[in-house]
Amino acid sequence: MRNPQCSAHNRLCEQKVFGGGMRFVFLGAPGAGKGTQAERLATKLAVPHISTGEILREVAKKKTDLAKKLRAFLQSGSLIPDQLMTSILLERISKKDAAKGYILDGFPRTLRQAQSLDTALAKKGEKLSGVIYLNIPEKVAVERLSGRRVCQACATNFHIKFDPPKKNAICDNCGSKLIQREDDSEKIVRTRMRVYKKQTAGLISFYRKKKILHTIDGGKEKEEVEREIDRAVEKMHLSSIPGRTSI
Ligand code: AMP
Repeated sequence: MRNPQCSAHNRLCEQKVFGGGMRFVFLGAPGAGKGTQAERLATKLAVPHISTGEILREVAKKKTDLAKKLRAFLQSGSLIPDQLMTSILLERISKKDAAKGYILDGFPRTLRQAQSLDTALAKKGEKLSGVIYLNIPEKVAVERLSGRRVCQACATNFHIKFDPPKKNAICDNCGSKLIQREDDSEKIVRTRMRVYKKQTAGLISFYRKKKILHTIDGGKEKEEVEREIDRAVEKMHLSSIPGRTSI
């Protein structure tokens, strides 16, 4: 049976093949395209796309002490403390809709978070299916972030040069206003890149050593990146079936 939400209708959306337990992590610098590609893959596999940035931005809109604290982190481009972030994430993946799998976008971002995730999964007899690392030059990432515009209502991303909306500053999807994320300003982008290199980039070798890292050239056209991700996911799935090592 095919996943009716998937417009691509390739082998990935055949739920018979990808029946569950598909837990993927997207890794890469800010601007690498993790959000776009994670969303596409989640639709194909019929599992939730869990973006920690999105979760935090939603909580930060509220009028609570926690929201105030989160706003300060988000506005500065620095990371939310590991313990708080991990408990938010573990609560999210314990929800019913994540029972068959999920695509993590923006988590883990530190070695501690990665280890906590491994421990929590192991307790349930689970593990990650794979990690997709989108590799792009820093210059390209900065150009993508500075031109990015996001829908206030449905969070769809556009780019003023590479993926402009049909109507200026209006979302094609729901007609709401597009805004620039506060942390996409040049100064904060520089901080986010520094934070990525210092605290997150080390996860590339962490997952490489575990032999679950798949590096994809994220600088290519969106559709080509998507095809390469599909191929990597299919390979990872087939190699997890006893007796099957390739397509
Ligand atoms: P993103 O939308 O993934 O670019 O995340 C936006 C911001 O949310 C980051 O700059 C951090 O301040 C915060 N954030 C998102 N995910 C995490 C995480 N796993 N650990 C700590 N902070 C995070």
